Amino acid sequence: MGKPTGFLEYARTENRVRPPLERVRDWEEFHLPCPPEERKKQGARCMNCGVPFCQAGVQFEGKQLGCPLHNLIPEWNDAVMDGNYAHALSRLLKTNNFPEFTGRVCPAFCEQACTCGMYGDAVTVHDNELSVIEYAYQHHLMGPHFSPHSSGKKVAVVGSGPAGLAVADQLNHRGHSVTVIEKRPLPGGLLMYGIPNMKLPKTVVRRRIELMTCEGVSFVCGMDASEPAFAQRLLMEYDAVVLCCGAEKPRPLGIEAEGVGGVLYAMDFLPASVARQQLALTPDVPSAEGKNVIIVGTGNTASDCVATSLRQGCASVKQLVRRPKEDYLRPDGSLPQDYAQEEAEALFGDDPRLFSQSVAALETDKAGNLSAVVTKDGTRLPCELLIAATGFAGCREDVCKAFGVDMERTVKTEAGSYRTNVPQVFTAGDMHRGQSLVVHAIAEGRACAAEVDRFLMGYSNLI
Ligand SMILES: Cc1cc2nc3c(=O)[nH]c(=O)nc-3n(C[C@H](O)[C@H](O)[C@H](O)COP(=O)(O)OP(=O)(O)OC[C@H]3O[C@@H](n4cnc5c(N)ncnc54)[C@H](O)[C@@H]3O)c2cc1C
Ligand code: SF4
Ligand code: SF4
Repeated sequence: MGKPTGFLEYARTENRVRPPLERVRDWEEFHLPCPPEERKKQGARCMNCGVPFCQAGVQFEGKQLGCPLHNLIPEWNDAVMDGNYAHALSRLLKTNNFPEFTGRVCPAFCEQACTCGMYGDAVTVHDNELSVIEYAYQHHLMGPHFSPHSSGKKVAVVGSGPAGLAVADQLNHRGHSVTVIEKRPLPGGLLMYGIPNMKLPKTVVRRRIELMTCEGVSFVCGMDASEPAFAQRLLMEYDAVVLCCGAEKPRPLGIEAEGVGGVLYAMDFLPASVARQQLALTPDVPSAEGKNVIIVGTGNTASDCVATSLRQGCASVKQLVRRPKEDYLRPDGSLPQDYAQEEAEALFGDDPRLFSQSVAALETDKAGNLSAVVTKDGTRLPCELLIAATGFAGCREDVCKAFGVDMERTVKTEAGSYRTNVPQVFTAGDMHRGQSLVVHAIAEGRACAAEVDRFLMGYSNLI
């Protein structure tokens, strides 16, 4: 602990964000880094607690307490205070393969558990983490690392989201030959096609993929492993196969919308936006431009749909939230907003959320395109684009069937294991635990990689 009184002397200062009315006009990242001298103070606020709840990473009364990756938070906070970024990086990479992702999109369970937050403000662990990894990239500390030996074993990882990438990274550094199979044109999973650029720039995802490629991981995109012959080939040619295909099945909207033009699921709308913005393609999915948009649902996905609609130039945006407003209020009675709701209010004057609301009926024009939504309380809202961000119901059956693995909502394994009923096939991430978070996907990927390594070698030194 570099400065025992740091938490008394310095106030918590979070990374700044660009003003809503400015950032809503482009697709660039909205978080801004803070100056190096301020970052040192934020590192100095960490008390290096005897029992660092921030890194505990346990489930307590159904809630996540501390970092699921057990990041060595007090150690790298101390190094941040000293400006010793090389040391901070070496401690950070011990437990987290991709701090550039978690430092941007993790909900920071560490901060919710931070002792400093009990009677004051928690340490800015999340922002400190991002500062370490971004410093490392900018100062060429993130060069490729190669395993000193080769095991001669081959592993196929199906799916290139954070879980698949973590499995691949761990096993590659252990000396196995790793091929990642991805059905979409670009690797990254929801990091690339779900979470929008302003929250997680696609250059950041590409930068990591390039590093992993340089380190020897092969990425094969545009290959769908749910095709039975292809799945059988993977089983024959690889010593182990790890399925990390996410939880792609959308939860239904709960109202008949078959054949109505202008009704979409979030995971049709968001990837199409990435295709437009990042790949200069013109997908066959409507954009929000000039339309009255209604998003059904809450959470990250719904917010990202609101923010994306604003950037595409929608005429208006509303968000239907099933639960009552009281459920979301802070103890002081205020209503928290995330980045998308802030932006919608700045642009249109009101918070976009309508609480205790759901869709009761849809109205269409003569061509069968959506023209209005009638809500549960009978309100008629003009609407030409309805986006269901109603969550995910589990993983897809086709890929499980192709590999012969048992599933219910997600792939079945013994508790605490990542091995399926097919001895050589493992699973991790949302496909295993259900719709979740990037930090959990990385944690699952790491634990799964250790089990695969034990299966291949009889022991493992992966943690
Ligand atoms: C819009 C949105 C916003 C989110 N925002 C956040 C956030 O801010 N913070 C956060 O922590 N989490 C967020 N999440 C959740 C987070 O993105 C996921 O929990 C995480 O990406 C899961 O990782 P995964 O690797 O298990 O699966 P995914 O990221 O879903 O990756 C699965 C990959 O498998 C591929 N695949 C599927 N089937 C096949 C097949 N048959 N053959 C080959 N490849 C296949 C898919 O194309 C995909 O690339 C968000 C999710 C969404 C949808
Ligand atoms: S990964 Fe998330 S929970 Fe863990 S230290 Fe980083 S921000 Fe905190
Ligand atoms: S709980 Fe907070 S103050 Fe204590 S070690 Fe963790 S980050 Fe530092």
